[in-house]
Amino acid sequence: MRVLLLGSLAPASLSAEELQQHGAATFLLDGISRAASHQLVRHRLASFSQESQRYVDLSKIAQPGIELTVTPPAIAQNPETRVRFEQAMHDLERAYGELRALGIRKEDSRFLLPNASVTRIVVTMDFSAWRHFCWLRCDKAAQWEIRQVAEEILRTLHRLAPAVFQDLVDYFLPGEPLPA
Ligand SMILES: Cc1cc2nc3c(=O)[nH]c(=O)nc-3n(C[C@H](O)[C@H](O)[C@H](O)COP(=O)(O)OP(=O)(O)OC[C@H]3O[C@@H](n4cnc5c(N)ncnc54)[C@H](O)[C@@H]3O)c2cc1C
Repeated sequence: MRVLLLGSLAPASLSAEELQQHGAATFLLDGISRAASHQLVRHRLASFSQESQRYVDLSKIAQPGIELTVTPPAIAQNPETRVRFEQAMHDLERAYGELRALGIRKEDSRFLLPNASVTRIVVTMDFSAWRHFCWLRCDKAAQWEIRQVAEEILRTLHRLAPAVFQDLVDYFLPGEPLPA
């Protein structure tokens, strides 16, 4: 999973309160699962652009070294569950390739693709909306993957506008040495 800041607006002349309304940041989230992106797109104050499974043919990009799915750590840690999971993913990938080879369009073949499928998504929010997102998704009640994404986003936002995000960092990332 990669969290990359693509752009931001954080004018130094604005107060913390003004920055909440006028500051904004755009991130590329690469290599997260569709399970995580489904949760992300519930945030209605954000703008999104997501890689489309209608246009990307997974049977063409499948090759050694390229991960097409995300494996939850709880599954990866147990050899028995890891093997079962990998087997199921392999079966789905093969069936997807077979449907494509039989002339089924990507928009229909993708019905076989699991929540574990990796995706890329670009997300933009103003700082006020990012604060709300971090409150919900850095919390220990949040699912592990979106929580990892949210924590990484919070670290970056804190570097951009410490006054706006300090209270969230103190609460969710206490004691963590953050780069200046
Ligand atoms: C731990 C956790 C578990 C969850 N479990 C489930 C689940 O089981 N099932 C499920 O369906 N969802 C679930 N969700 C998703 C949740 O219900 C919200 O859809 C999601 O967190 C987005 O939150 P939000 O609506 O507050 O944020 P945003 O959509 O980012 O909106 C931010 C705030 O803006 C305001 N706002 C935005 N749009 C409007 C509007 N149209 N009208 C009025 N006010 C608006 C609201 O005050 C809102 O809180 C879960 C979320 C979390 C964090």
